[in-house]
Amino acid sequence: MTEKENNSFNLVCPPIIRDKKNIMLGHGSGGLLTHELINTTFKKIFTNPILDEGNDGALINLPVKKGKLVVSTDAHIVSPLFYPGGDIGRLAVSGTVNDIAMMGAKPLYLTASFIIEEGFPVESLEKIASSMKIACEEAGVVIIAGDTKVTEKGKGDGLYISTTGIGWLPEGRNIQGQNALKGDAIIISGTLGDHATAILQARGGLGFQSNVTSDIAPLNKMLEELIKQVQDIHVMRDPTRGGLGTTLVEIAKQSNVCIQIEETNLPIKKEVKTVCELLGFDPLYMANEGKVVIILPEEKCNKALEILQKHKYGQNAVRIGTVIDNKQSRVLLRTPLGSNRVIEMLMGEMLPRIC
Ligand code: MG
Repeated sequence: MTEKENNSFNLVCPPIIRDKKNIMLGHGSGGLLTHELINTTFKKIFTNPILDEGNDGALINLPVKKGKLVVSTDAHIVSPLFYPGGDIGRLAVSGTVNDIAMMGAKPLYLTASFIIEEGFPVESLEKIASSMKIACEEAGVVIIAGDTKVTEKGKGDGLYISTTGIGWLPEGRNIQGQNALKGDAIIISGTLGDHATAILQARGGLGFQSNVTSDIAPLNKMLEELIKQVQDIHVMRDPTRGGLGTTLVEIAKQSNVCIQIEETNLPIKKEVKTVCELLGFDPLYMANEGKVVIILPEEKCNKALEILQKHKYGQNAVRIGTVIDNKQSRVLLRTPLGSNRVIEMLMGEMLPRIC
């Protein structure tokens, strides 16, 4: 055999080119680099006995107490990834935890799927994963399963995170959008539009410096305390993208009731008001990520406000309106002059990539 012929059989795999600072396509291959990324970044931060088993699926014990499981899922594509008061990691945990909590359930577990763009800095990924860990600890949940995929450079926008939450709803709790009744009081847990304003600030779209930070937070601990002390809450919902206006219209349709809110009672920071006036936004449609609308019997309203106002995420809780009728599903905003404006759902997209 000549030397040339011999070389034709001499096939050798090229050595792996490692870039420890940036994500490579190989980090999504499912092979060695994926395992290295999982072990050095994700497992190091999220370690817990269920996740560490390393099987195709997580084995979890069903809660022994009676009740139901509540499952919710959400994809997070916020831009930019870091903004005043939070980042995509805190958002991905809090958003899903809150959707479980809005049902009156106790969030227990999360799964997280990461779609990362080639070239994304590993340091940023670790920062975001650490932020998720802190939010998980605050909410009392653990990440029990995850996935990592990598897109080619230019075919993603840094990072997208999708999370699914599993929670336990104790028997006898029934907090749903169709439960609002005529005479119920309506509470909002704090100021409107902080998250949207913080995102605008981070995009450099305000044209001036604002001190408003995102309100993003897991609300489950505050709401668990509220439910324990005020048993007959009818509806809870987080007014995220679409804002308070859209959320109230959804509830009015589900419950087939007429909701009236008082414009003068809406809690809005001065800076957010200024942003709305300058840029033509309506605070009713500005996104929130750490607020909850609560609808409950009139006689329970003061007690609920007292409990919420003691909590750091409910300090500015206030009653904003009443369910006034059960004949027509609509939302009315009573202006300071006494006239009523009909509130519709948000049309189109006011601020894309907000969550
Ligand atoms: Mg929600």
